[in-house]
Amino acid sequence: MGGSTLRSPRQLVRAGLIPETILDDVEQVAARYATAIPDTFLSLIETPDDPVGLQVIPHPDELIMAPSEREDPIGDDALSPVPGIVHRYEDRALLKPLLICPLYCRFCFRREHVGPDGGLLDEAALETALGWLRTHEQIREVILTGGDPLMLSARRLAHIVRALDDIPHVTTIRIHSRVPLADPGRITDELTGAMETDKAMWLVLHANHEREFTEAGRAALRRMQRRGIPLLGQSVLLRGVNDSVEALEGLFRAMVENRVKPYYLHQLDPAPGTARFHVPVEEGRALLQGLRGRVTGLAWPTYILDIPGGFGKVPLGPDYLDTGSGMVQDPSGRWHELP
Ligand SMILES: *Cc1c(COP(=O)(O)O)cnc(C)c1O
Ligand code: SF4
Repeated sequence: MGGSTLRSPRQLVRAGLIPETILDDVEQVAARYATAIPDTFLSLIETPDDPVGLQVIPHPDELIMAPSEREDPIGDDALSPVPGIVHRYEDRALLKPLLICPLYCRFCFRREHVGPDGGLLDEAALETALGWLRTHEQIREVILTGGDPLMLSARRLAHIVRALDDIPHVTTIRIHSRVPLADPGRITDELTGAMETDKAMWLVLHANHEREFTEAGRAALRRMQRRGIPLLGQSVLLRGVNDSVEALEGLFRAMVENRVKPYYLHQLDPAPGTARFHVPVEEGRALLQGLRGRVTGLAWPTYILDIPGGFGKVPLGPDYLDTGSGMVQDPSGRWHELP
């Protein structure tokens, strides 16, 4: 599926996405970090530095590692008891069955690991990971991530979902995916059928700009919703992509109008070579403050930081209560005494 996907820097030059003059540098970037631009996204790119192009076109700056950046920004490697499992919080664990994605985000927090030719847990490793989940009764929720779990074949996804179905203490299954908008043709009846389970199945859709909601993508979301799968949205706050009140408003409105509840707006994780996307936390808080009162409460995500080093996720505000003075701020910025 996904018709034609651009993968080599040569193809990017031919498509007019990068100038010939930086080809050597981009070859170096591509040798280090996976690159893929599916035709859905290609057709959305108007200029290489627009909100869609920036997300997927490799850039020479990716070779620059800032002092604050780390290869494993959120410390997943240290929290992995067996391959494919990451366990940081008592009640839930990640299961990463593969490391393939429909496209490769230039800001990806797992960019040192994801790529087209690796990371599929083989039969034995998958059984070991499922065995770990079976023997850890505190795990109520299994979060399928990767890579992108919807890049699995329907048969393999069905096998995993059925195995999780059979673990009594697992009550909730969550899938994080960019596929529905990046490669909507993959969301077939067979694939949505593979997600069928009596447990609570949630899908968290990764999208960063309203333009990603194409007609085909919207239809793919509907196919999952018709199967009774509730959809949440997760986005990353990115310089040049969605770092304005208008862009965030457009994104979250597009989600709500497609029955996708914005869940998290992530502060960018400091993965190598991603500094060009960095938006300071104070700016992020001000952007969200600009949305308060302006958009429906349904469109409001939690602005979240995954504390570098593996210490966990925490909300970054904005907050409206000044506990020192006991004053509370309204959406237009005026202060009031707490009743
Ligand atoms: C992000 C993450 C989760 C999920 O966190 P929620 O706040 O429940 O969305 C779980 N485990 C790990 C290791 C994570 O990085
Ligand atoms: S879809 Fe997720 S895992 Fe894949 S490249 Fe993008 S951020 Fe990374």
